[in-house]
Amino acid sequence: MTNSPLVFAATCDLAGQVRGKAFPLSEHTKRMKNGIGWVPTNSLITCFDTIAPSPFGSLGDLVIIPDANTEINVQLDQDSPSERLVLGDICELDGSQWALCPRTILRNALKRLKRLSGLKLNAAFEHEFQLTNLEVQPGEAFGYGAFAQHRAFGESLVSALEQAGITPDTFLKEYGARQFEITNGPALNLQSADWAVLLRELTKRSALAHGNHASFAPIADPEGVGNGVHVHMSFLDENDRPATFDPAHELGMSDVAGAFISGILKYLDGILAITAPSDISYLRLTPHRWSAAYNNLGYHDREAAVRICPVTASDNEKRAKQYNFEFRATDAAASPYLVLAALVHAGAQGIEDALPMPAATQEDLSLLSESALHEKGIVRLPQSLNEAIKRFEQNETIQSWFGQQFCDVYVAHKRAEIEHLCELTDLEKCKQYSKVY
Ligand code: GLU
Ligand code: MG
Repeated sequence: MTNSPLVFAATCDLAGQVRGKAFPLSEHTKRMKNGIGWVPTNSLITCFDTIAPSPFGSLGDLVIIPDANTEINVQLDQDSPSERLVLGDICELDGSQWALCPRTILRNALKRLKRLSGLKLNAAFEHEFQLTNLEVQPGEAFGYGAFAQHRAFGESLVSALEQAGITPDTFLKEYGARQFEITNGPALNLQSADWAVLLRELTKRSALAHGNHASFAPIADPEGVGNGVHVHMSFLDENDRPATFDPAHELGMSDVAGAFISGILKYLDGILAITAPSDISYLRLTPHRWSAAYNNLGYHDREAAVRICPVTASDNEKRAKQYNFEFRATDAAASPYLVLAALVHAGAQGIEDALPMPAATQEDLSLLSESALHEKGIVRLPQSLNEAIKRFEQNETIQSWFGQQFCDVYVAHKRAEIEHLCELTDLEKCKQYSKVY
């Protein structure tokens, strides 16, 4: 059999789905320049393929212009064709920015951060997922036995990442039933989100090649553990020197990083609609699941929305390189571009407003009364997507970062997603989401 290689040019859209069109490799030069056709209403296709009421209707034309820096050509095994995939920006026909392109929205957020502070973002993603069709055995959590059983899958995934130019970090059998975790090393700015998009696809493709379905759904069973995405962040200054650590601070946090975190926590109840964007995301964001239920900064605490991560080095120069904080209130139903855009805008707002670093908690917040939480300036996060969307809509500052048109489309999209599921039980919803993420 002969075949003509196809290159898939894609966006990771408002539903966190990688969608696009393929062109023949023989057309590569032309298509990398001119892109592939796209339409505005595609941004209203929900993860279930329903279309939310669209302000664009059948009108309008756009193009996805591929970015050569994101192009991958990965051979998973000898028998399958290469995974040729390239990510791009959704543009107007003349090549100018389209206001609803998630990748462009992130690029603009990063420009704002740079303009305000001179900082570049260094980010690394930890992804949890489940291989849905495995038999569950007791004693598998973090186990060598379970790892060894799935070594071939893990090694092909790590090879896929390496072939794609993504730095692998760790692969493990996570705590939950059928649950695994794959973490990549840090990358700068836009590239860190590109890597997250590509890693999800490569994980799914590698799992499929081993006869499994990898699901990144935020939670597969309301009674079980969630699949989190944890985003580790640190900064580099204009001279590419670490800017997150300050040896003089009792917890090691620089002023600018403290202000950035303050901004995230201040706006978290509204940006949650972007970072935890599925109906079932809120089953995961509950106390005692090691996810995040409050807008708190935690010191070495895995129940915090933002966690100060440990460092092992003893000299300050090395500590400064290792020092990072982690955002835990997100999942893979979200486009990595929009997650980082929301975090960067909120953080930049914190820097612009010179917010002081919040006090770090080191206790079980679910045991505190509402007034005790209030005294600490901490709130319980919204407990449904509906509630998070309302907070998103009502917050004029958040609206100003994303623009009115994006916000209106995003809210319409998410309302249609909620509507699609309204007759289902939580478990049925989880099953639906497990198929699409
Ligand atoms: N599964 C947890 C989550 O939903 C995270 C567990 C961990 O700390 O790795 O975020
Ligand atoms: Mg984990």
